[in-house]
Amino acid sequence: MNYENEIRTCLDRFETVLREQLAREEKMEREAAAVDYAKKEKIRIGLIPGDGIGTVIFESARQVLDLLLGKKLAEGKVELVPIEGLTIENRLACGESVPAPILAAIKSCDVLLKGPTTTPKGGTDAPDMESANVTLRRELDLYANVRPVSVPGEGIDWTFFRENTEGEYVLGSRGVEVGDKLACDFKITTDAGTRRIARAAFEFARKNGKQSVAIVTKANIMKKTDGKFSRIANEIAAEYPEIAHEDWYIDIMTANLVNKEIRDRFQVFLLPNLYGDIITDEAAQIQGGVGTGGSANIGDRYAMFEAIHGSAPRMIAEGKGHYANPQSILRASEMLLRHISFTEEADLLAAALEETTGPDAAVVIDGYEGATCAEYTACLTEALRRRLSR
Ligand code: NAD
Repeated sequence: MNYENEIRTCLDRFETVLREQLAREEKMEREAAAVDYAKKEKIRIGLIPGDGIGTVIFESARQVLDLLLGKKLAEGKVELVPIEGLTIENRLACGESVPAPILAAIKSCDVLLKGPTTTPKGGTDAPDMESANVTLRRELDLYANVRPVSVPGEGIDWTFFRENTEGEYVLGSRGVEVGDKLACDFKITTDAGTRRIARAAFEFARKNGKQSVAIVTKANIMKKTDGKFSRIANEIAAEYPEIAHEDWYIDIMTANLVNKEIRDRFQVFLLPNLYGDIITDEAAQIQGGVGTGGSANIGDRYAMFEAIHGSAPRMIAEGKGHYANPQSILRASEMLLRHISFTEEADLLAAALEETTGPDAAVVIDGYEGATCAEYTACLTEALRRRLSR
């Protein structure tokens, strides 16, 4: 069989990709300065419930935000903007990963709280639709995915800085196939993209008194893309001489996280997109499950906060969606409040989360055996009300 025509089509696609990505890199070089939320008269917080268990856990976050922000909402310092329709049903019906009117509503906000959204799986009959998150991270240029994980009893206090707009993800729906013989995806690493995520990680380390940053790649195998990531991360590290930095490979780092002998020595992790995605689920499991993990997607103009997990269709199919743990989206809400400098409200939520997840907690989430999302939320809002009335 002759594949010449198909190879030509692939090469054309590759050329388009290279030109687009170079243009993106050059745009990043002219990047804007970060927004100072403290100087804004009113901050618009977009609320996007998502689908699957997203709608369940989002109800918990909505109650908590209404309580915590009551005074600032009344004073007009903040506005909660409901954004409906980012569900798999509506996205498939519109044929767009993030339908245009929803994207416009999102761009009218400053920061976003987002529930998980389902992505159709490749290699099946499902439509080849891009992940809503990948679209939003690209459209809003949310380049830093920040995921904290802490287990105080074991001395674990990790913060992951995952590059969020490049790697295997940026072109994940635009790979090529030659007949039914082979498939090829693209992985992109740019200078400017790596520089800004590396700087975000080292700046965080400096501002938060961290002593070390682990740069995690697979540069021994992915020599061009991960090689560039490692080289640039090391160049940025040289600008922060007070912070130690070490190069690690992702495979051994995955083992390190379950090695109790050494895991508490790590503080900040800096990784390309795919490795960051995978290892942070492992880290969240060590903390108590993906249902406990919050995550921030930070750019210079926008920021989006969400649970680290997905829409859990299996829980929904089993009729157990009401057992979804909302702590993930609540920790994301805490990160959002901190990001917009609502420190008092963020501290109140952190304290209430600690109280309701500690050893003396009145209500415990434990898979399908423990409290439901609504029962836990009632307990948490009660703890918040007590603190607010002090
Ligand atoms: P998932 O994270 O949705 O769920 C995996 C399992 O983790 C669930 O079956 C459940 O047992 C557990 N779990 C997840 N969240 C939980 C919670 N809050 N409380 C209790 N248990 C919880 O992973 P998946 O099944 O691989 O993905 C499902 C869909 O979600 C896919 O379409 C995927 O693309 C999408 N996804 C979306 C996001 C996002 O929107 N940010 C992130 C990851 C996956």
